[in-house]
Amino acid sequence: MTILGILLSVSGCAHQAGSQLPNSQVRDNLLGTVITVSIYEETDDSIFDDVFNAISLIEQRMSANLPDSEVAGITAAAGKSPVMVSEDTFYVIKQAYETSIASGGAFNLAIGPLVRLWGIATEAPRVPSQAEIEHVQNLLDYNAVRLSDDDRSVFLELEGMSVDLGAIAKGYAGDVAGKIVREHGVGHAILDLGGNIVTVGGRPDGTDWRVGIKNPIAGEQGYIGSIPVKDKAVVTSGIYERYFESGGDTYHHILDSKTGYPSCSELLSVSVVSNSSTDADRLTTAAFVLGLEDGMDFLKGYKNTEAVFVTTDFEIYLTPGLKDSFKLADDRFRVVGE
Ligand code: FAD
Ligand code: MG
Repeated sequence: MTILGILLSVSGCAHQAGSQLPNSQVRDNLLGTVITVSIYEETDDSIFDDVFNAISLIEQRMSANLPDSEVAGITAAAGKSPVMVSEDTFYVIKQAYETSIASGGAFNLAIGPLVRLWGIATEAPRVPSQAEIEHVQNLLDYNAVRLSDDDRSVFLELEGMSVDLGAIAKGYAGDVAGKIVREHGVGHAILDLGGNIVTVGGRPDGTDWRVGIKNPIAGEQGYIGSIPVKDKAVVTSGIYERYFESGGDTYHHILDSKTGYPSCSELLSVSVVSNSSTDADRLTTAAFVLGLEDGMDFLKGYKNTEAVFVTTDFEIYLTPGLKDSFKLADDRFRVVGE
């Protein structure tokens, strides 16, 4: 199964005499995805270790799969006691909680029991029975997540509840990685965390990067179009990223906690462009579950946030800030409007 969100068109990049640019390193053992850091100037290689170590720490703290993570600790103590967590984890959980409230549960940080039921991100995903879904439904209540700023603790009121940060923590890792790269004095870089793109500055020649919006048809490669960005994150949620087939039907990994099933919003993908990769990640998932109309309305509440919605009818809807700059690259799709 490929996990590709957005790929980059970086042709025509500047090369310096005597050096091979970009200076890139790849890791395929972090956050369940492939992470590529590409630096478009001369730099010390320690930058890569700093970035990958920071992402590894985020995974150790926020993974729902690692038994010793802070997230696993919160789950183990559900219904019993609050758990104090690191500043990073508390920040991400708080963002996830606020997104759950703002989106009316379209984004739901308490979706863990449902994710586990479907076996999302495991070797053996399966379609659960209606009885199993009903059994976990009351455990998906994000209002039963209690956060205390005083001691940075998280308490899940009911035993069996669990938080899942799969729809936001990769975005947070992108922000942390971008900050480290900037702290090393780098002005031109692209960080690709399994399709979550973080751009540092623009191209070395001062122009914008062009980020390709991945073809969202499952099994196909390539881009349907591209957008110009500089110092922005571009994050996509799509049905093609993780899915499985059962009984002739396809089931993807973005779940609607109201139905207990993969979100059926007649969208193939939503990409969000934002100054913050954390925001782009959480908002794409929320907008995807909300669907085209409600998702567009929801995003209007966020400043400096643009989006590309792709429907199952191959129609592309853009927010006003992208109308003049989006370039279509696949004529099976058509740009329809706002
Ligand atoms: P997004 O739309 O951003 O997120 C979808 C993911 O969020 C789902 O996979 C689910 O986990 C959760 N989710 C589903 N529906 C909702 C909803 N309505 N509201 C909120 N959340 C929802 N993958 C592996 O294969 N193995 C690993 O060990 C692994 N470890 C990871 C550890 C961390 C800390 C993180 C952040 C990710 C990890 N992943 C791992 C990848 C993860 O399982 C998801 O596939 C990935 O984060 C989904 O990102 P996305 O951009 O594709 O989709
Ligand atoms: Mg997301």
